[in-house]
Amino acid sequence: MAGIFIDVEVSEEVRGDGDLAQKLEELCPVDIFANADGRTEVVESNLDECILCEMCIKAAPPGGVRVVKLYDDGAALER
Ligand code: SF4
Repeated sequence: MAGIFIDVEVSEEVRGDGDLAQKLEELCPVDIFANADGRTEVVESNLDECILCEMCIKAAPPGGVRVVKLYDDGAALER
């Protein structure tokens, strides 16, 4: 099930980066990212657990990961 409060968007560039897939899987404290054979997958059932720590945004290149606050008219955390 997708998130009600949070969505996380991952660029195609980031999805295909195996090193980043592993890093994202390890750093997210609530397991929103999974490394699926070197590709980043978003674990939709965990989306609403996001604590807005921004670690995923900082780990990815600019524009690579956006955290969208669906409860706030889609305001996004990004860089
Ligand atoms: S902001 Fe933090 S909790 Fe939310 S998806 Fe990124 S790393 Fe996970």
